[in-house]
Amino acid sequence: MFEEGVDIVPGHDTSSKNNSAGIYDLVILGAGPAGLTAAIYGGRAGLKVLVVEQMLAGGEIANTAWLDNYPGFPDGISGVEFSRLLEKQALRFGAEIVSASVEKVEARGETKRVFTSSKEYTGRTLIIATGTVPRELGVPGEDKLRGRGISFCATCDGPFFRDKKVAVVGGGDSAVEEALYLTRFASHVYIIHRRERFRVAPILQEKAVEHPRVEVYWNSIVKEFAGEQKVEKLLLENVKDANTIELDVDGVFLYVGRIPKSEFIQGIEKDEGGFIVTNEEMKTALPGVYAAGDIRRKYLRQVVTAAADGAIAASMALKHLGGD
Ligand code: NAP
Repeated sequence: MFEEGVDIVPGHDTSSKNNSAGIYDLVILGAGPAGLTAAIYGGRAGLKVLVVEQMLAGGEIANTAWLDNYPGFPDGISGVEFSRLLEKQALRFGAEIVSASVEKVEARGETKRVFTSSKEYTGRTLIIATGTVPRELGVPGEDKLRGRGISFCATCDGPFFRDKKVAVVGGGDSAVEEALYLTRFASHVYIIHRRERFRVAPILQEKAVEHPRVEVYWNSIVKEFAGEQKVEKLLLENVKDANTIELDVDGVFLYVGRIPKSEFIQGIEKDEGGFIVTNEEMKTALPGVYAAGDIRRKYLRQVVTAAADGAIAASMALKHLGGD
């Protein structure tokens, strides 16, 4: 974990084009695969690069148990290890990484101003790669039991549920992959999905449905989380016939999609869900401001596409600075 507001690695300034008075050539918001790839490309091109991250380097991938489809890792790699390697590579090319949460950005002018929980940073170009946060269900019991059996991270909390019963809510890649991961610990994994088909590749659906310790409740939604000190039961409703049942569980993992972290910036186009609209060069409507990774409106949200976005955004920033 980085120290709040502290530069963990002093940046080099020898090869920077514009390093007067603490102005960075490139400020990157978010240290996930998009942000760190942009840092690698920017740093390697000689830019003075700052990355601002509020959590851990790696972003969402650091919370992912296993990365199975990133090219070059034939046996897969753990999300934590992949994050560590990305960070190491960005640092090798001179990027500074600081821990702070971004509160506001003023990016209309030539100098982009980033106001964080600790300091203000300025850059000549800006890449927004802040990704997403988990969506919640907004049903009774959720506020009370969040962190008391309701979790958003199977990698972090799965081991607490050895030989226990857990439920996973959702039907996308995250829900199904993390449900399969949880079978390493839990005696029984229920998947609660609101439709009768997952939003995943058929091979993954088959793997989940056929797993002896996975049981799927199709066409079902959670109406309530119940429990005194911790989650004890879920109240499920079948959306087809409105039948309700109670399901005893020790824990529940919510994977019902993600919400973009884009509220701190105004004046750029976002879609109805808050995802930032860019062209294929990752440009927003503001000169010198780019978006990369899951925060963008895009078709495929994967580590490989996030990395590609980051590389393109950094190359465009370099071009903007007149360095290509
Ligand atoms: P997602 O693909 O948006 O799936 C969210 C799931 O939650 C959907 O099944 C959706 O149901 C369900 N859902 C949404 N709101 C709900 C509600 N209020 N109540 C109940 N269910 C609700 O989200 P994700 O799985 O977190 O994935 C995010 C992105 O990362 C996706 O683009 C995904 O492909 C990508 N990803 C890829 C990998 C991989 O390739 N290995 C791994 C993880 C994530 P419906 O199906 O009915 O809409």
